Amino acid sequence: MSKYKKTPADNIQDLQFFGEFGGVNPSIADSSTFTYLAGKTMGDVFEGTREGCYLYSRHTNPSTSYLGKALAEMEYLKGAILSASGMGAITNTLLQICNSGDEIISSRTIYGGTYAFMKNYLPKFNIKTTYVNITILDEIESSITKKTKVIYCETMSNPLLEIADIKKISLIAKKYNIKLVVDNTFTPMIFSPAKMGANIVIHSLTKFINGSSDTVGGVICSNEEFISDMIDVNSGSAMLLGPVMDSMRAASILKNIRTLHLRIKKHSNNAQYLSEKLQDDGIKVIYPGLKNHPQHELIKKNMNKGFGFGGMFVIDIPTKEKANKLMEKMQKENVGYLAVSLGFYKTLFCAPKSSTSSEISETEQKNMGLSDGLIRFSVGLDDNIERTYKVIKKCMKELKII
Ligand code: PLP
Repeated sequence: MSKYKKTPADNIQDLQFFGEFGGVNPSIADSSTFTYLAGKTMGDVFEGTREGCYLYSRHTNPSTSYLGKALAEMEYLKGAILSASGMGAITNTLLQICNSGDEIISSRTIYGGTYAFMKNYLPKFNIKTTYVNITILDEIESSITKKTKVIYCETMSNPLLEIADIKKISLIAKKYNIKLVVDNTFTPMIFSPAKMGANIVIHSLTKFINGSSDTVGGVICSNEEFISDMIDVNSGSAMLLGPVMDSMRAASILKNIRTLHLRIKKHSNNAQYLSEKLQDDGIKVIYPGLKNHPQHELIKKNMNKGFGFGGMFVIDIPTKEKANKLMEKMQKENVGYLAVSLGFYKTLFCAPKSSTSSEISETEQKNMGLSDGLIRFSVGLDDNIERTYKVIKKCMKELKII
């Protein structure tokens, strides 16, 4: 069977790990270091002439390997490195690929932390970033210079939910021998960037993949060569900068990933319902599952079928004050929590302009359409979403928003 015939959910379902003592959950590797029976073997591992042995947990360990295998399978890639946060995955990847003097082309609508890293931190190493509208392919191609090493984007961008045409962007990247790095945090299972030509796929595991809002974590998925470069003892950023994930967390995330397909379907169904209803009520809604989303047809063409259009939607309220009042009221009425992050069982909402995207300059926020009253929703797993909608509507009516 072609590896693409199976869905990402099938790939997770088909994992078969036998624990050290036959347990259906692998034992947690609670060790930072591993013993060797022969001094020579240890030397060989350090030299890279021998594989298959665990050495030290900043490198890899059995628990992170199990989770890495699951995530690499889900993304149709050969290997993965776990990191202690999504930012750990992003920063280590970019520092691995780029040398001083190199350039990055990045979508201008990305997570604020990633934007700040590129804009404020990478210039210390003389690495420059050019920001583009990722939905305009000509803009990407005309920004490429001899120094460009990376094209960076999110499959579904934070917070404006723009969809990148990974298939077409990857053709541009290939033409100029540039690596395409894709953050797939908003759309696990829905999109498979590697299937569409991306070289490296990153997730913040903090969000949908773990789904419990009890940890931060990240992953870098790629081919064997890139992964082994990342953990090279002499030059690998994952080895030398040490962004490693703890084995206890790796084991707990591995358990949560088994229900990811069910959760994504439910998040998507609920977000579709709420965004349609609120749009009908006259609210300005951005949701890729709505026919009026500019890339609605593109997402339909590129997505893995059956997982919906994702659990995130955005509404635009006329003023910041009204948006704040609405969020406070919705929290009081138990629609969800006024909190950053996403992928929780309860709905989370925040105003990105003054929170998760506050790192982006005022002018650029304006250019991309990030307004004061924008509220981002990560829709929860509510069993009865009609009930939730009625409460949201009541809050909006009381505040004279509708
Ligand atoms: N990528 C996206 C799309 C995000 O939304 C975030 C965090 O909000 C990150 C990366 C960073 O992940 P973490 O908070 O796990 O470092």
